[in-house]
Amino acid sequence: MDMAEIPVELKRLADFHGHLGPYVLLGYRMGLIARRYFPGKFFATVYTGTEPPVSCLIDGVQFSSGCTWGKGNIAVKEGGKAVARFYDGLRSIEMSPLDTIQTRIDAVSSYESGEKLSLDLHQLSDLEILMIREGGTETSDRIVKL
Ligand SMILES: [Zn+2]
Repeated sequence: MDMAEIPVELKRLADFHGHLGPYVLLGYRMGLIARRYFPGKFFATVYTGTEPPVSCLIDGVQFSSGCTWGKGNIAVKEGGKAVARFYDGLRSIEMSPLDTIQTRIDAVSSYESGEKLSLDLHQLSDLEILMIREGGTETSDRIVKL
């Protein structure tokens, strides 16, 4: 992969995370959506657990949403699922990859194919890659820090 073909924001994401893959890309896109959705402060819960590759999603969310481990406004739950939930105490939004996208991610068999898929996914609109559900409350929506 020629790095010159990679958009600058994805280069920054790859620098932050260490590489470019479909899960960090999805987390990045989820965080951008949440930033547009909430007018002020918000919180994140991700259901990836801490085993890569699915946990790579956490770094993408941290990079674009501003919800970071250090600020205490992101929580990681076990589950091994590429699901992120965002909430501000008034509204909530939950996102996961479409089944067709998950199937493409599951077919990734090398670092190079993961990077290529990330770039392909980045060309697609939010609704072409993600299922986005608004509303509802979860016990995990309890706001612990401000
Ligand atoms: Zn990764």
